[in-house]
Amino acid sequence: MKVLVIGGGGREHAMVWKLAQSKRVEKIYCAPGNAGIAQHAECINTSPTDFDALLDFVKHEWVDLTVVGPEDPLARGIVDAFEKEGRLIMGPSAEATQLESSKAFCKDFMKRWGIPTAEYKTFSSYTQAEEYIRMKGTPVVVKADGLAAGKGVIICNTHEEAMDALKLVMKDKAFGEAGNRVVVEQCLVGEEASYMAFIDGSTMLPMVSSQDHKRVFDNDEGPNTGGMGAYSPAPVVTAEMEKKIMEKVMRPTLKGLRRDGIKYKGILYAGIMIQDDEPYVLEFNCRMGDPETQPILQRLDTDFASICMAIAQGKLHDIELKWKPEASVCVVVASGGYPGKYDKGIPIKGLDEAAKVPDTVVFHAGTTFNDGDVVTAGGRVLGVTALGADIAAAKKRAYEAVEKIHFEGMHFRKDISDKAVKHLG
Ligand code: AMP
Repeated sequence: MKVLVIGGGGREHAMVWKLAQSKRVEKIYCAPGNAGIAQHAECINTSPTDFDALLDFVKHEWVDLTVVGPEDPLARGIVDAFEKEGRLIMGPSAEATQLESSKAFCKDFMKRWGIPTAEYKTFSSYTQAEEYIRMKGTPVVVKADGLAAGKGVIICNTHEEAMDALKLVMKDKAFGEAGNRVVVEQCLVGEEASYMAFIDGSTMLPMVSSQDHKRVFDNDEGPNTGGMGAYSPAPVVTAEMEKKIMEKVMRPTLKGLRRDGIKYKGILYAGIMIQDDEPYVLEFNCRMGDPETQPILQRLDTDFASICMAIAQGKLHDIELKWKPEASVCVVVASGGYPGKYDKGIPIKGLDEAAKVPDTVVFHAGTTFNDGDVVTAGGRVLGVTALGADIAAAKKRAYEAVEKIHFEGMHFRKDISDKAVKHLG
């Protein structure tokens, strides 16, 4: 089959890499892709939100299946547009994607169906939000309602910080229209984990657990980013916790969606905070996590193209998921200055040497070609991902490969997966 992958980050590189291993896949296209994706796919210079152009492409090239990576095209209705034209596509509709695209929608949904989450209130009025924060006290979490690339969440320890956050989101519009409404939320304390599942509208197949590292610096310091590294499995998600997450979060969510008349087809991602041995949902995403996808797909031992096709066709009951017993660790290498301002176009050295480290894949996130050389093109540049007998072994390999890579200003965390090692140790 011919597959079109939408997106051009580390997650999409991992998806394309996995699809390329499938005997069923004869050709992969990626819109827009990146320098790493170009090793396995033909990159096409079309925006992920130009649905007319993408549909024309799919018809013209006889593409059998489209797989969507990022949230933006989903929220804007790419699945609706493709299905209207009778095209097979993996991802949820715009209506279902509101679970991610509107924090207010998501919180109301969880409240309605009794899914455990932090106490909250939604405001479109600045003064009412201010009043509520005064009444509730701190710590408190201020969240822009709409999509803000993982950066519209501000944890405020003092009243002053909370006022600044509210001003930033609602008055200064630091996240644009996403800040027209805010969700003000109780601050949870515990350890986070990511839990994802493939869903075809009725059948749900959970993936192995993982954990992201959202802050830019070691020991979870500094501002939130799109994610600085991830590993799988996450030992904080014990067998007992997994059962709780399935019973209290994943199944009730699918059931609630169905009862609300919303068909959910694609990937459901729950960002979980484990507090006092109970799972609370921090957020839902309607696509695979980035960078969690990189270690998870490295561990997947089932044909990914068959999974994606089964989701699109509502035949997930035919699929049996298998996972490699090894652990996987992904270290994100970012541009200096990220998540703030950073330079682009910087040549990257050592990619071939890094790729020679056994069981290691250098997934590209923000890269492009300049006169045949691979150069930086984004905040998160690479996701160096390695398999190992256990987390410690995978970590050692991933960092061994990272050490072989160099570009001016590069930054990476040195403690990816240490939380897991602490649990196990
Ligand atoms: P979200 O995009 O809602 O997942 O938030 C991004 C990050 O902010 C999460 O991964 C958490 O680290 C943190 N966060 C969000 N909501 C809360 C909360 N209610 N309590 C504590 N931390 C939170």
